[in-house]
Amino acid sequence: MNNLGYYNGKIGLIEEMSIPMTDRAFYFGDGVYEAVLCRNNIPYLLSLHIDRLYTNCQTLNIHIPMDKKSMAKLICSLVKRVDSYEKFIYFHVSRGSALRSHIYEITDGNLCIMITPFTVGNLSERVNTVTYNDIRYQMCNIKTLNLLPSVLAAQYAKENNCDEAIFVRDGMITEGSHCNVSILKENLLITHPADCYILPGVARAKLIKYALEEGITVCERRYKKEEMMEADEVLITSTGKIIRAVGAVDGVAVGGKSKSIFSRLCERMYSDYIASTGG
Ligand code: PLP
Repeated sequence: MNNLGYYNGKIGLIEEMSIPMTDRAFYFGDGVYEAVLCRNNIPYLLSLHIDRLYTNCQTLNIHIPMDKKSMAKLICSLVKRVDSYEKFIYFHVSRGSALRSHIYEITDGNLCIMITPFTVGNLSERVNTVTYNDIRYQMCNIKTLNLLPSVLAAQYAKENNCDEAIFVRDGMITEGSHCNVSILKENLLITHPADCYILPGVARAKLIKYALEEGITVCERRYKKEEMMEADEVLITSTGKIIRAVGAVDGVAVGGKSKSIFSRLCERMYSDYIASTGG
């Protein structure tokens, strides 16, 4: 298959699938999602993503209609049906189905999966960014389907010929529209604390691990846009991009002063992806 859509047991091409209007994802965005890279038919870090999905659903009182093992087994079987060496697996669980009402009954959630061909681009290519006012609420740590500010920010980046928008809240950098942002200054990696204003990214956790292993001090604290502009490197991390260095923010060149540390971190992140997906 060129791609695959799955909805509560039904399978087909994504563009031919339909979901009922009663799905709470449809009218409230009432659900939680995950995105996973897949290479060689092996989903990368699947258990970490599934753990985050279950934790988020538990926080929101959303009931996932299967256990973690069954979900992993299902995803691993579905990826084999899509003809591509690298793939992107998107899956979400909505709160379930009902006529539209803010008040909910506890019912089984609906599981939706989409698998599409994907290519991890060139990690050494720098990305250009724009800043964007962080108008999101205080549940950014939960990967909910409600992504309107991120959609607007990503579109704003595109319209400004940039690859990513970096959110600024009260003068402080939080994260990107779909990535985490960290900065390197000398031997220090600074990244926003994993509080309610950022998503604690799986790739961010890997970056922290490898930075520590490379002898870099990691400091989880807030930092201002001015500090980012002066950083040796500005790094973005996410499932899809793995890790990239930022080349410019709002048209002003940044980073490029710590190329060897960036290359080492990049190498560690990429090697882990390759080694974990069959070498
Ligand atoms: N922050 C936001 C807002 C995101 O949407 C994402 C990924 O989609 C990330 C951070 C990075 O998270 P992860 O590394 O788990 O992909």
